[in-house]
Amino acid sequence: MEKKISLDEITSFAKRRGFIFLSSEIYGGMAGVYDYGHYGVLLKNNIQQAWWKNMVLDRDDIVGLDSAIFMHPTTWKASGHVDSFNEALMDCKDCKFRMRADHVLEKFGFEADQMPLEEMNIHLDELRTEGKLKCENCGRTNLTEARQINQLIRTNFGQPTLDLKTMTQEDYVYPRGETCQGIYLNYKNITDTMRVKLPFGIAQIGKAFRNEVIARQFIFRTREFEQMEMQYFLSPEIMDEKYDYWKAERWAWYLGILGIPEEKLKWKKHDKLAHYAKQAYDVQYNFSCLGGFQEVEGIHQRGDWDLTRHAEFSGQKLDYFDQKNNKRFVPHIMETSVGLNRLVLAVLDNAYTVEDLGEGKSRTVLKILPRLAPVKVAIFPLQKDEKLKELAGNIYHNLKKEFVTEFDDSGNIGKMYRRQDEIGTPFCITVDFQSLEDNMVTLRERDSMVQQRVNVADVLSLLKSKL
Ligand code: ATP
Repeated sequence: MEKKISLDEITSFAKRRGFIFLSSEIYGGMAGVYDYGHYGVLLKNNIQQAWWKNMVLDRDDIVGLDSAIFMHPTTWKASGHVDSFNEALMDCKDCKFRMRADHVLEKFGFEADQMPLEEMNIHLDELRTEGKLKCENCGRTNLTEARQINQLIRTNFGQPTLDLKTMTQEDYVYPRGETCQGIYLNYKNITDTMRVKLPFGIAQIGKAFRNEVIARQFIFRTREFEQMEMQYFLSPEIMDEKYDYWKAERWAWYLGILGIPEEKLKWKKHDKLAHYAKQAYDVQYNFSCLGGFQEVEGIHQRGDWDLTRHAEFSGQKLDYFDQKNNKRFVPHIMETSVGLNRLVLAVLDNAYTVEDLGEGKSRTVLKILPRLAPVKVAIFPLQKDEKLKELAGNIYHNLKKEFVTEFDDSGNIGKMYRRQDEIGTPFCITVDFQSLEDNMVTLRERDSMVQQRVNVADVLSLLKSKL
C-alpha cells in the first residue's frame, strides 16, 4: 500500500527530530525561510557531497567553482532577470489570501508557465464571468486582477542615505536569483586558467534568493535556498547527443545514489520555453507530502544566449577557439540545475515510514540509504551501569573516528532504538552484561530489526563493509 504523509506531518517531524526549524521562530517565524538543525545539516551535506563527487570529483571534464552571492548589477540586466524574472500574483480582497495566478490557471487546465500577464488576465476574466474563480482560502469571489512582481530581491551597498522607495535601478544590487550566472561570469577566468577543452562543465553549489510570491510548502519553495548547478559548454553540433547523455546520467543518480524508486520519478517536458531555452525537461518527484509530482531538477539547453548576452553587456570576448577546426565561436550551454533543499524534502518524503508492529504498536522509521543517513551508528549501554558505560564508551570512541556515531546512555532501550529509527540510523550496537564476559555486543539493523551478536574486535570492519 502506498504510504501517505501530509505536509504538516513532515514539517512537525522534521522539527521534533532536529532536522529543520522555521527561521526566527522566537519572533513568530518568517515565511519561506528555514534553518537546518544538526541532523538536517548532516543529511543535506551528505546529499550535497554525493552530487559533488558524482559531478566533479569522479569526472575529468568538469571543474568546480564557488562564486560570490553578489554580482555586478549589470549581470541581471544581461541575463534578462531585471526585465522578465516575474511572477503573477492575485489577492483575495476579503481574506487577503495570496495566490499565484499561473497556479490558479493550471488548476483549470491552462498551460500557464511563461504565459504573458495580459493573456492570464483574459483567462481569469473568463473564469470570473463563469463564476468559477474563487479564493482558495475563503471561497469568496472578490479577487484582484493578476499583477506581476519581480522575483529578484533588491538591496544596496553602502549607501545609507538612500531611501528604498526612491532608489532607481542603478542603485540596486541583488543577492543572486540563481547560481549559474556566477558560472557564466567566470567562463573567461576558467578557460584562461584551467586548460579546459570543449566540451567541459563548471559546477557549483550555493545559495540563491527569490522573492517568491507564496511560500507555503515547507522547504519545497523558499525565499532562500541552495542550488547545485552544472553548466556544460559545448559546440552546438553535439548538443542533442550530450543532452540525452546528461538526462540519462542524472536519472541514474536519482535511482542509484539517492535511492529514489523509479516509479516515483518522471520527466516533464516544457512546452513553452523561457526566453533563453531551446529545449527543457524537468525531473519530477512524486511528493507524498505535496500530493503529487513536482519539479526537483531542470535540465535545459540554453543555446548561446548567456555568453552572448554577457559578452554584449561587458564588452569582453566570451568565445572559444577550436584549434583543431581553426574555428572561433560562442559555446552553447546545457545545464543541470537542482534544488538541494527539494532533494532533502524528497529523501525525507521517500524514507518516512510508519510501521505497524502489531498489538497496537507502531514505529516511525526513516528508511534512508546508509550513505545519506545523518548518523551511521549508535552505541548504547543496555542499562545505567559504569562498567557497561565504559565498554560502550570505548567502542564509541573507536567508531567515531570512522563514522558519524552517537552515544546514548539514557538506559531505556526501547526509546533509544526509537530515537535512532526516527533519524534513520542504519545500525545500533548494544552493550549488555554478557558483553563484559564474552566481549560480544548486539548489532541491530534498522529496517529488518534483525539482531546479531558480534565480537567487539570485528565491529569496525563489519560496519565498514556494510556502510
Ligand atoms: P519552480 O517552477 O518550481 O518555481 P523553477 O523552474 O523556477 O522552479 P529553476 O529556476 O529552474 O526553478 O531552478 C532550478 C532548481 O532550483 C529547481 O528545479 C528547484 O529544485 C530549485 N528551486 C527553484 N526555486 C526554488 C525555491 N524557491 N525554493 C527551493 N528550491 C527552488
